Amino acid sequence: MKLQEFPRHPLTFGPSPVHHLERLSRHLGGAQVWAKREDVSSGLAFGGNKVRKLEYIVPDVLASGADTLVSIGGYQSNHTRQVAAVAAFLGLKCRLVQEHWVPWEDPTNTQVGNILLSRMMGADSRLDPAGFDIGIRDSWKNALAEVEAAGGRPYPIPAGASEHPLGGLGFANWAFEVAEQEKQLDVLFDTIVVCTVTGSTHAGMIAGFAALEDLTGVKRRVLGIDASATLEQTRDQVGRIARATAALIDLGRDLRDDEITVLEGWAGELYGIPVDSTMEAIRLGAQLEAMITDPVYEGKSLAGLIDLVSSGEIGRDSTVLYAHLGGQPAINAYHRLWA
Ligand SMILES: *Cc1c(COP(=O)(O)O)cnc(C)c1O
Repeated sequence: MKLQEFPRHPLTFGPSPVHHLERLSRHLGGAQVWAKREDVSSGLAFGGNKVRKLEYIVPDVLASGADTLVSIGGYQSNHTRQVAAVAAFLGLKCRLVQEHWVPWEDPTNTQVGNILLSRMMGADSRLDPAGFDIGIRDSWKNALAEVEAAGGRPYPIPAGASEHPLGGLGFANWAFEVAEQEKQLDVLFDTIVVCTVTGSTHAGMIAGFAALEDLTGVKRRVLGIDASATLEQTRDQVGRIARATAALIDLGRDLRDDEITVLEGWAGELYGIPVDSTMEAIRLGAQLEAMITDPVYEGKSLAGLIDLVSSGEIGRDSTVLYAHLGGQPAINAYHRLWA
């Protein structure tokens, strides 16, 4: 099936805004840097990249007759907050498993930010002591069984909505949205920089830009910046989901290895724990552009972009698009970094 034929349930205001980061570009002294803002493109509880993925999953939810969305993430998961938002918006119930993915020992970690918003929207959010793993978890299977045992009809949405068969479609379509915006803005982005953890954001983009390349002949680099600190697992997951999404949208060829690039160097030692480069990137984004990024995801991918542009690895004549995927509610749990 062609991408345009898949049903999409609108959860956003429309195409996410694209704008030039002039002060950051001048500061870096290399490529021109623009941003495309998933963080400000939906009215559902501050939005973010999972809302865009869910636009393609909701038609399946509604067709299934389910009454409860069930999902999983860390205590400060942006994903589970977006699932809670979509459940509220659709009038469904929501059961969330929030695991101890990040050893960030602050009492606010289970009280403020994303988890607060999920509770406010009526989700049944329960804490679980298990550590970080982007794979399929027992705690999550148990939550599904509990909903069923209580007479509910659960609809499972895996971590980051990535291992869902339709999870890559939202960002495959993002590629076509970018191409439309390029025409309107008279600009061409030869390089895309995106944070990657559970993989379907980056993977969807890879499939979408491959389809676009086959239509237009325009080649671009889609650089995933790992923020999982479990590189091999994320790299595998990105490759697998990119190929599955490419097949789903009838790309009609295999993806080349050079189309799947996950870069390491900015995740630090652990998922969810910022390092010096993260803090410097957050500072630059905030103080040069008032563009707020978080210590878990976007601060790390912005750090990658800053280094790649400053070092000339992304050349001076490039125009690079930074995919801002959201994540700001988590900063509340990290308040002491700026105390
Ligand atoms: C989930 C998330 C990511 C990573 O996206 P994946 O599709 O899981 O790779 C990046 N940034 C933010 C803010 C997120 O919430």
